Amino acid sequence: MSGRRELALLGGEPLYSKPLYLTRPLVPDEARFHELIATIFRNRWFTNDGEMLRELEKRLALRLGVDSCTTFCNATIALQVALRSLDLRGEVITSPFTFPATVHAIEWTGLTPVFCDIDPATYNFDPASAAEWIGANTCALLPVHVFGNPCDVVGIEKLAGARGLRVVYDAAHAFAVSHLGRPIGVWGDLSVFSFHATKLFHTAEGGAVVGGDPDRLKLLRNFGILNEEVVRGSGLNGKLSELHAAMGLTVLEKVDEEIAARGRLTQAYRERLEDLPGVHFQRTPADHVPNNGYFSLEIDADEFGLSRDQVHRTLRAENILCRKYFFPLCSENEAYRHLPSADPARLPNAHRLAARILCLPLFGDLGMDNLERIAECVRAARAGAERIRRETALR
Ligand SMILES: *Cc1c(COP(=O)(O)O)cnc(C)c1O
Repeated sequence: MSGRRELALLGGEPLYSKPLYLTRPLVPDEARFHELIATIFRNRWFTNDGEMLRELEKRLALRLGVDSCTTFCNATIALQVALRSLDLRGEVITSPFTFPATVHAIEWTGLTPVFCDIDPATYNFDPASAAEWIGANTCALLPVHVFGNPCDVVGIEKLAGARGLRVVYDAAHAFAVSHLGRPIGVWGDLSVFSFHATKLFHTAEGGAVVGGDPDRLKLLRNFGILNEEVVRGSGLNGKLSELHAAMGLTVLEKVDEEIAARGRLTQAYRERLEDLPGVHFQRTPADHVPNNGYFSLEIDADEFGLSRDQVHRTLRAENILCRKYFFPLCSENEAYRHLPSADPARLPNAHRLAARILCLPLFGDLGMDNLERIAECVRAARAGAERIRRETALR
């Protein structure tokens, strides 16, 4: 392509006239969705433990291979309720290489976030680094299965067991993943899934807590209301509506097709990019079933000839909406950067990675032709690295 077409960054026409998105929500069968909505109208029951919600929770527990699945209006609230349900006090150790909600949930629950470093190959919470931060006030670990890649669940279990800590997993990316022959949701005390529209499985907005005591979780989700006359403790409103549950029921029918389609695209991306010097991939364990939720590249600027930011700019100029996930790190947020554990010197792997990761567009109906064009753009960036460096330095 470099011979045939000038890169948009260097003055050529953009490859796409309209944005090619990073992800697009899975669209369920519309007729089926309308059927369920008609039932909701007939029942005249829009929220509060309705028929759709009960059915969704039952089917999700089956699909996720867990005893119980308690849905919420989103994963951020679900994380807060998960932490709250364990009656924790003090510090929770988490990864800075995550979506802001992970850390905010700790803070909003009145707990103190403490950052540990990540494993440079898996991008996940490093139990060895976490061990250095465990002190008298530590009450829990909150690791994240980044891009659906299972954490070192055995190492984390050992550490938590030895130090008497609870474990809550942020499994927002890990729908339907399994590891060591077991569903991802069985590890730790609780796991939290996100059903936001940009996630693999979604209810438009939504989330769920897996594990724990479902009665306690339901109480916290509904103001603490036990019955007409008893309000037990302090709860919030974290309920998922019947309309969202209907969305989930119809999306669930298509999710395995979506996982398979993304799997084929992931394979195609790898084949087209793995020989490129300076391009590395996230290391995943052999014994896991992936969900193909994200496709990330790790760009080594010395080998590639361009930094991640320069590749990002090159693709963005073509209207390819790749993303720097997760940049900036949560530890750089003004709300947290004063924390001793937010010191960049203590988070070398996380800082290095946040400057190297680029997520490429991935969704079931992306299309192989689009994928080929995106991969070709990355290859063209590498081939034209010297010119890009020279000409963009002038601007
Ligand atoms: C999306 C996401 C969340 C928050 O999910 P919501 O359902 O949007 O509240 C939390 N953690 C991670 C890692 C996420 O990617």
